[in-house]
Amino acid sequence: MSSPLILDGKIASIALLDQLQQQVTQAVASGKRAPHLVAVIVGNNGASETYVASKAAHSEKIGIQSTIRRLPAEVSEADLLAVVAELNQDPEVDGFIVQLPLPAHISEAAVTNAIDWRKDVDGFHPENVGRLAKNLPSYVSATPLGIVKMLEHYQVETAGKHCVIVGRSNIVGMPMALLMQRNAYPGNCTVTVCHSRTPDLAYHTRQADILIAALGKPRFVTAEMVKPGAVVIDVGITRVPDASKKSGYAVVGDVDFAAVAPITSAITPVPGGVGLMTIAALIQNTVNGWVAFGAGQ
Ligand code: NAP
Repeated sequence: MSSPLILDGKIASIALLDQLQQQVTQAVASGKRAPHLVAVIVGNNGASETYVASKAAHSEKIGIQSTIRRLPAEVSEADLLAVVAELNQDPEVDGFIVQLPLPAHISEAAVTNAIDWRKDVDGFHPENVGRLAKNLPSYVSATPLGIVKMLEHYQVETAGKHCVIVGRSNIVGMPMALLMQRNAYPGNCTVTVCHSRTPDLAYHTRQADILIAALGKPRFVTAEMVKPGAVVIDVGITRVPDASKKSGYAVVGDVDFAAVAPITSAITPVPGGVGLMTIAALIQNTVNGWVAFGAGQ
């Protein structure tokens, strides 16, 4: 079999960000206020800091105003909800995210549900999930949206394919399934969703023309679990100890890339695949919100 096409998140995300930058630059040149994205971080979670810093840097690079609101780990749920209410009301804010995970004393559902769905650029609010299910304009959770943008960029054929998704979380697996089964491109797949209670998982994954692994188990998907010629999308990001790295760890996906890549027709690497698309997709959502409800109309 010939070498697989590497679905490169750097190339695809730069293409998407370039497009968004043009859109923003033209609107600002015509006198419109630039889009404004706010990220709220609670406490000192190192991974959250890294994600939010990266989101802010990419936003600013393409002309989006970016603000980070830091709150102490001890902030009460009521005080966090007051910040959410303030951001909901602020006409200068087009979209905002409250970075998860939150400290255990705060209900993530209460916070997510309090965000005005028109500013919910993470796409976690029930209104946005319901709108996605009904094929209405909505914000789509950034990771599944980023995967859709990746498939579009590389013009991966999806109609009539069997897409198997491993994982059913609210932020990845479930919205991914809705997107792949909708009557649109990318979409029109026959979708199977697997989870931790699925018996004989490999039987299902071997049926996949498009296999999306989003379970959070490093190198879990082996070559025996993949149909030759499949397109494989690896969502997983896990740090595993690696003495050969200066940092002491390596970032790996849910797919055993070295063993699986040679039998696929196309595959995303980790790092350098879905993660970069996720950030670009969040920025796409912010620009969409600014056009639909804010100064970019
Ligand atoms: P999650 O909420 O923990 O969900 C994991 C899903 O995988 C669950 O539905 C779980 O089933 C299923 N699962 C776990 N073990 C399984 C097994 N052995 N066999 C079959 N299914 C199994 O995780 P998530 O938030 O969706 O994230 C998944 C992975 O993607 C993580 O590595 C995360 O770091 C990564 N991620 C990456 C990005 C990115 O930008 N690249 C963004 C988000 C997440 P049950 O429902 O039965 O428990």
